[in-house]
Amino acid sequence: MKTVPLNCNHCGAPLRVSETARFATCAHCHAQLAIHHEGAAVFTEVLGEIAERTQSIEAEVRALRVERDLERLDKEWEKERREILGGARTPPKRHDTLLLGGLVFCFGTAALIYGLARGRESVAFGLLTIGTSVLMVLFGLGNKSLYEEAEARYSARRRGIQERGQGAAAPGKVQAR
Ligand SMILES: [Zn+2]
Repeated sequence: MKTVPLNCNHCGAPLRVSETARFATCAHCHAQLAIHHEGAAVFTEVLGEIAERTQSIEAEVRALRVERDLERLDKEWEKERREILGGARTPPKRHDTLLLGGLVFCFGTAALIYGLARGRESVAFGLLTIGTSVLMVLFGLGNKSLYEEAEARYSARRRGIQERGQGAAAPGKVQAR
C-alpha cells in the first residue's frame, strides 16, 4: 500500500495515510480529518471546520434566496400599487377626497337651487353634478381602503420574508429561544 506523508491540520503532527484514503484520525490529537487531493497536493482538513463552512454556505444561500424573494415581492407590489393608484404617486388623503367631493356637491346643489328657482335646465346639470360628487367620494374612499389593504398585505409578506432571513443568519439565536 502506497502512503503519503501529511500533517494534521489541527495539531500539526505528521501522519502517514494510504494514497487513496479520504478520511483519517490524527494519532496525536485524535482530530477527525478529511484528506483532500488537489492535483499533486494533498492536505488535511479538520472535519469540524468543514461542517462550519457548509453551514455558512447554507446561510449564504438562504440569504440570497431571501434577497431574491424580497426583490420579487417589491416588484409585484410596485405593479399592484400602480394599478390601484393609476398615475398618482401616493394615495389621496381621505380629507382631500371629502373636501373635493364636498366642493363639487355644493356646486351641484347651487346649480340645482338656481335651476329650481328659475325653471332652467341647470336642474339636470345640478342633479348630475351632485351624483358625480357622491360617486367621486365613494370611489375615492373605496380606492383608498383598497390601497391600504394591499399595502398591509405587502408589508406583512415583506416582514415574513425578512424574519425568515434573520432566522437563517443567526440559527443559534433561534435555537436558544
Ligand atoms: Zn492532530
